[in-house]
Amino acid sequence: MKIDNTFRTADPDEMRRQLEGHESLLIPEVARLHERYASMTCPECDSPCRPVINTDRPFKPGQVTPNVLLHCNHCKAIFEPETKIIIRFGEAYDPLPTPADLFVNEPWDPLGS
Ligand SMILES: [Zn+2]
Repeated sequence: MKIDNTFRTADPDEMRRQLEGHESLLIPEVARLHERYASMTCPECDSPCRPVINTDRPFKPGQVTPNVLLHCNHCKAIFEPETKIIIRFGEAYDPLPTPADLFVNEPWDPLGS
């Protein structure tokens, strides 16, 4: 038996029909989070921030939206929005290694120089 690994998207008209009459969970939650993040400032320098996907942990149990961290527009610190704990300082500081740094490939030097 041959397995077809082709990714197929659902028919948009059929998806609309299936969703009719159901309340959207995503739109109000995204609007709420957008407003909340826009009102938050950097715990290091009090500047505005923007949400970025937490690539180390992109999903949280029970959360319908992607898990995000906030990135300061000024000092580039990255912090967890719920606790305001700074996970990484920006370029103006000595950057702290994160688990994501472990997966960044160094340029391969075949001669080992
Ligand atoms: Zn900052």
